[in-house]
Order: sequence, then C-alpha cells, then structure tokens
Amino acid sequence: MKLIQQLDETFIMHTVKRLPIAIEHAHGNYLTDTEGNTFLDLFTGLGVNTLGHSHPRLMETLVEQGKRFLHISNLFLNPPAIQLAQRLVKHTVKDGKVYFCNSGAEATEAAIKLIHKWSKTHAPERQGIIVYTNGFHGRTLGAVRLTRQPHIYQDFPELNYPVFEATTIEELEEICRTEKPAAVLFEPILGAGGVHALPHEFLLRAQQLCQEHGMLFALDEIQTGIGRTGSLFAYQHEDLPGLHPDLILFAKGIGGGLPLGGIIANHKVADVFGYGDHGTTFAPSPLSAALGNAVLDVLLEEGQLEKGRLAAQKLWTGLQTLQAELPEYIITIQGRGMMIGIRTHLTATQVSHIQSELLTRGILVDIAAKTVIRLLPPLTLQESEIQHFLTTLREVLLHLKK
Ligand SMILES: *Cc1c(COP(=O)(O)O)cnc(C)c1O
Repeated sequence: MKLIQQLDETFIMHTVKRLPIAIEHAHGNYLTDTEGNTFLDLFTGLGVNTLGHSHPRLMETLVEQGKRFLHISNLFLNPPAIQLAQRLVKHTVKDGKVYFCNSGAEATEAAIKLIHKWSKTHAPERQGIIVYTNGFHGRTLGAVRLTRQPHIYQDFPELNYPVFEATTIEELEEICRTEKPAAVLFEPILGAGGVHALPHEFLLRAQQLCQEHGMLFALDEIQTGIGRTGSLFAYQHEDLPGLHPDLILFAKGIGGGLPLGGIIANHKVADVFGYGDHGTTFAPSPLSAALGNAVLDVLLEEGQLEKGRLAAQKLWTGLQTLQAELPEYIITIQGRGMMIGIRTHLTATQVSHIQSELLTRGILVDIAAKTVIRLLPPLTLQESEIQHFLTTLREVLLHLKK
C-alpha cells in the first residue's frame, strides 16, 4: 500500500471506499494523478463538474470574485446570490423564492422544515412525506430518514416524523387514502438508487394527488438538475409536459465545483419561512453564487446545454448499439442526457472489475446500486472521447467473456 493511502486510512474516517489515486490537477475532461496518469472523467466528482474542469469562464469568475472577499456572511445583501436566485426562479416556477444552503443534504433538510411549517398552518392534520423506495436524498439525520436504503439509514436514530414509501400509482393512492401526508418528494431519475427514471404518468399522478389532497409536490433535482439530463431541470423536458413542482431541490452542479445548494419554492410556499426560521453561516457563499451565475451563463447563454444534449445523444446511440451487440452483459441503458446507467446482468464483483479495468485504460466511471455502471460525463464531452470510451468499454466487456 502506498504511504499516502496508509495516511488516509489512519487519519481520515472510513466513510468512503476511496480509489488509490491522488489527483494532481484536472483540466477540461481529464484528471491527472500524482504519478502522471491521465483519466477521462466520466464521473465529474459525482455529477458536480458539469462543465468539466477549470472551465475558463469559471476560472475568470473565481479570480474576480475571490479577489474581493471570500466570506462576509448572509447579514449583507449579496448581489451574485440575488442574481442567481432571480434567474433560477425565472427559469422554473416564474413566481417564487430561493433558499440557499451549501449541499444537497442541507437542501433536503430545508425542504423538510419548510414542508412541516407549511402544513402546520395550511394543513394542520397533515404530516410527513411520501418518498420513492430506494430513493436518495442525503445523509444528515432528517434527510437520511427520506433515503429509503437500509444500509444507509439502519444504524442511526429514526426521527419521529412520518415517512411513507411508494413505487406504484396504487401505493400512492393507498397512502393518500389511509394516511395524511403533507408532501411527496421524488427524484425524477433516481441517482444512487440505480439511474432509474420514474415514469411520467407516475409523476403526473403524484402531482394530481397532491392537488386533490392539498399536499405539496416536491422534486429532488440535486443530481438531475443544472443541465445534467439535457434541460435545466429534468422535469422540464418537452416530452414530459404538465409538471409544476411547488419545491425544487438543487445542489451538485450549480456551484461549478464549490459547495452550493438550495430550494426553489413557488408562490404557494415562497413565504413559509420567516426571519430566524432557518439559516446557515456559510450560505449563500458569494463565491459559490458568482460561480452559479457563470454556470448558468455557459449553459444557457453560450449554448453548452444544447451542445451537451447533442453529445449525450451520440453517447446514447453508441451505448445502445453496444447493448444490442452484447445483450448477455448489458440489460439496458437508462437515465437521460448525461446521467446514464448501464444496467448489467453481471455480479457486483464483475462490475467493480470493469470499473478498475477501465481505470487501468484511463477512463473513470462510477457504479450505482452495485450492478449499474453509472456515467455522469461532463456536458463538454467530445465526439472523439465518446468513441474512445465506447471502444474501450467494448474491449473490456469482450475480455470478460474469456
Ligand atoms: C447527492 C444527492 C443528495 C445529497 O447531496 P449532498 O451534497 O451529498 O449532501 C441528495 N439527493 C440527491 C438526488 C443526490 O444525488
């Protein structure tokens, strides 16, 4: 074992099984480690570096804003944050407000508190949230309660707050008939749960039930948001019409690599929080917020969202061809845009072997739900990189055969 790996194991808690690699620098779509090896990054820091690494527009913003100050606290008016909030509202609920925090789990916490406070005044008989079985909403104590994966929550205290699980329309209807939940919260496409898109009819029916029963309809777009699936948020695709969430959770991609998250609330719930109801020292970081604006500039004004959508189409076509050639390995390609799950017939050990074989050949991919190869590529992925990945994956899969 390398010295640096030993030190990591000695001094940092073992909450993540790390790759034995230390990154020296990252540029564009590539990572370079301390030994000079280069990796095509199809993981992007778990879907954070949507524009690849050291994007010139982001670097410029970082220096410009960073020179002024790094932190001043939320006591002051914060022009970059105000601008970002205004843009996020304009592109989603049209009429509403944003609450900023530093991470995805914090966005979930804010949503839980907001839903709870809303129901206290608007629907006092209602309490609790319906979530999707196997969904993921974060690991802090409130958020982990909504994360319905036993290996993630089982060793920790369960808050006394009702949580209901559903995976079918019938289950949703049953819960709404027999219980009194205050909201639903779903990822439009499960991330950690295996890159599985919830059917459009299911989301529409959930929204309709919310309207019928006077509940809030919330979407966790922490992974699917900020261009990841080819539209700014995953619920906004033209072929998925009719979705109008009351609350949208975001994080990961928005800060361009710096911690930033939050919730967008429509007019119904924009003023639920009053002074002192919620907050955090660091957010909104003016630096993260400035980067957030730069991310939106590149995606929406410089056309990167559209370019990413086209690149994703090429990647999908290639992967579907590979699936047709090797159906004994690949069951299906799932997800949307640059959020892709290659669902395999293989064991967890084999999938983990594929990941390390790809790494040896200079390509970094992720694994979700043990047997799904998860790709969260940058929207800046080039055609040659797509071809290189497809050829290499095919080679690794064919090698497995022998
Ligand atoms: C990553 C993620 C979270 C948690 O975000 P953190 O920043 O890791 O706390 C919550 N929900 C979804 C859908 C995520 O992908």
